[in-house]
Amino acid sequence: MFGLSKKKFDEIHIDRELVEEIKDIARESYPLEFSAMLQGKIKDSILKIEGLIFLPGAASESGAVMEIFMMPMLSDAVGSVHSHPGYSAEPSGADLQFFAKRGYFHIIISQPYNDDSICGYDSFGELVNYTIV
Ligand SMILES: [Zn+2]
Repeated sequence: MFGLSKKKFDEIHIDRELVEEIKDIARESYPLEFSAMLQGKIKDSILKIEGLIFLPGAASESGAVMEIFMMPMLSDAVGSVHSHPGYSAEPSGADLQFFAKRGYFHIIISQPYNDDSICGYDSFGELVNYTIV
């Protein structure tokens, strides 16, 4: 699992409060997308997602992720999160390009912005399991 990542981990844990925050922001941003980087660390083979890093100009009607793509990599950013105004959490072509270049774990949250509409992807755009802790 995650064999091509530079850092190794076997599990992904996302803080419950962070999940609630992501759902709230996605709802408030609708019909716009919101996007942010995920802050976290790898400890004891677990990738722990603990916070969001907001970047200026990250909310837009489209191409939100591509704006982040222009930003320099932040040292403790381990991935990204963005919302889709719609019921599909499928990564777009632009999303996949971004995933491949930035971090290990990427979240897309689609409508209705609940726990079940959150999908986690690796840098190849493959669905990965995570645990809300
Ligand atoms: Zn997207």
